[in-house]
Amino acid sequence: MDLFTPLKFLKGVGPARAALLEAKNLHTVEDLLIYAPFRYEDRSNLKSIAQLAPGEMATVIGEVRSARQMGFRRKSLGLFEVTLSDDSRSVLICKWFHSGYLESVFKPGQRVAFFGKVEFDSYSRELGMMHPEYEILTGDADEDGDAALHTGRIVPIYEAVGKVHTKLFRTLTRRVLDAITQLEDPMPQSIAERLGFPSRLEAVRGLHFPDADTDLRLLNAFRTPAQQRLIFEEFFWLEMGLLLRRATSRLVTGIRFDLNDKVRNRIKEMLPFKPTGAQKRSLGEIAQDMSKPHPMHRLLQGDVGSGKTLVAAQAAMIAMENGYQVAVLAPTEILASQHYLYFRNLFSGLNYVSTMLTGSMTAREKNQIKKLIAGNYVSLVVGTHAILQEDVDFANLGLAIVDEQHRFGVMQRLKMVRKGVTPDVLVMTATPIPRTLALTMYGDLDTSVIDELPPGRKPIVTKHVIEAKVEQVYSFIRREVDSGRQAYVVYPLIDESETVSMKAASKMHEHLSKIVFPDLKIGLLHGKLAAEEKEAIMRQFKAGELQVLVATTVIEVGVDVPNATVMVIEQAERFGLAQLHQLRGRVGRGGEQSYCILVTGKLSDVGRERIRTMVESTDGFKIAEMDLKLRGPGEFFGTRQSGVPGLHFANLLRDQEFLEMARQEAQRMIEQPVLVREYEQAVSWVNANWQRRYGMVEAG
Ligand code: ADP
Ligand code: MG
Repeated sequence: MDLFTPLKFLKGVGPARAALLEAKNLHTVEDLLIYAPFRYEDRSNLKSIAQLAPGEMATVIGEVRSARQMGFRRKSLGLFEVTLSDDSRSVLICKWFHSGYLESVFKPGQRVAFFGKVEFDSYSRELGMMHPEYEILTGDADEDGDAALHTGRIVPIYEAVGKVHTKLFRTLTRRVLDAITQLEDPMPQSIAERLGFPSRLEAVRGLHFPDADTDLRLLNAFRTPAQQRLIFEEFFWLEMGLLLRRATSRLVTGIRFDLNDKVRNRIKEMLPFKPTGAQKRSLGEIAQDMSKPHPMHRLLQGDVGSGKTLVAAQAAMIAMENGYQVAVLAPTEILASQHYLYFRNLFSGLNYVSTMLTGSMTAREKNQIKKLIAGNYVSLVVGTHAILQEDVDFANLGLAIVDEQHRFGVMQRLKMVRKGVTPDVLVMTATPIPRTLALTMYGDLDTSVIDELPPGRKPIVTKHVIEAKVEQVYSFIRREVDSGRQAYVVYPLIDESETVSMKAASKMHEHLSKIVFPDLKIGLLHGKLAAEEKEAIMRQFKAGELQVLVATTVIEVGVDVPNATVMVIEQAERFGLAQLHQLRGRVGRGGEQSYCILVTGKLSDVGRERIRTMVESTDGFKIAEMDLKLRGPGEFFGTRQSGVPGLHFANLLRDQEFLEMARQEAQRMIEQPVLVREYEQAVSWVNANWQRRYGMVEAG
């Protein structure tokens, strides 16, 4: 047996179980070894029933005497009861509420282990346990292994995979660890020593079968030396790979953009206002990258409304003034068309030809535009990621600006890079990204942060209103509209279906325009409209011809109407925090006081917490951290993926300190390795394994 032995060859894993494990990406012995327990129980206090005392945590092993659903009179309670006896001839009564499924678990005659807090059951006057943890001991040696493995010690608890329960994981892992005497330990020795980590083999042993004297609290906090090493190691290799990629990409030949006075002056002429200090600094960093003979890979971060788009436009100018083409990629059509309007407006009179290319265009239109792009007749192309799927042949692509909005895959970002002759890449994100995510998802990029809002902004006032009092919201909208302002009313994307939320928005549109505000002009914007219709409605709203805009989340990003001062978000409890913050950022863009009104139904505790965060904070970074905490990395990015692939032990929320440490160590290893040999070994480990382990990004 070695690390690459397929699990199906292990005793106790038949074809059915092997298939279940495969589905969870558990293929080999190595996969099993890094399948970490999610918690631990101290079952060292193994006692016979007669020895038990009320109040203690204990493990007992015995035989099921009876197992049945109780309480025919109060069936709703679903009380399930198991009586257990052992050689001491005493009886233990274990009870579970709402656990009818246990009927198919427990059968009289079974040998079982129960673990829990011993209580005195005053009704039966016997000792008992409420909701104990349990394990059925089948007496099948293949499955149970050594019975002592499951009791009488600190035991690891694994998340079950279908019918593969924690006990089988324990048995298999024990067998594998007994059979294996060596484990490749690629972590540079100098780092492991300096940080005082155990060897990899010791760490894996300690992860699954901690010594009897290990502190249970440390174990469950994932802070034993063994666990710390595994967490660190995982982050270390992730960061090594990202930083090596960053270093290599700096060696590739790219475009050296010339930043002479003529270019500088042209940029100044184009600017509609004085840039903020943070904008200037960011542009400085971008310009410096662009003037180097290597491709730029930079992330531009900043809160909503901080003026990222303006900085991106300046970067575009540098490229275009040097005779290169620029591609601007947006995640949605509506955002693409807004960017298009924004850039076209900004560059009008400067003699640059801009165009737009989106998925909803006809094949004929697309072909025409592609010809223009290939013939170098256009300088700036704004599009959705459809651009990536179509084979657009740029004559002279120099800069790609990717508006990421938490939706674009990193893969797509890279595919695009391949389109031209290694153009510069600037990634903008709509919302601030918590540092942990930035270090992992974007760890290969350099970062600029715009941490200052343009002058004269008044903080947006955020209020929470319950549905029943929505009339108050209407009279408030009326007041603002009467004094010349405009308002948005937004609906969430319900169940991921634009159709459903479109219906809700349409209904509200009808209600508002016929009954509430018959005298006002009210627009309706949703994802199912054709691109020109959307554009037309946006234009009317921007021109003030519409006073209220009812919309689905299509307006989430990018809309820029300084005269709009009210953002009403219906069913706000259905939105993520980052998304709410995005939406709120659509107002407060002019000099007037702006308001965000969150309308909700009845709230859960978490829901109330979320809404309170919004009402109390306008700091995008703080909100993003909270969002990450409440929803987890996968949801945060609005994708199905569960965050960062390749992380088995490490947890972005729990282990931030290790991520920082790993980043530093990786940086040091690349920039000033203690031993060149270690550096070389680390690089070759990354080359051989990184893609397989952290395969979220294409190497290169
Ligand atoms: P972001 O893309 O970061 O959300 P935008 O670039 O859309 O922000 O800018 C938000 C608003 O602020 C826009 O109306 C923009 O014209 C305006 N703006 C940007 N930079 C400045 C500045 N330096 N001074 C005044 N207004 C600015
Ligand atoms: Mg360059």
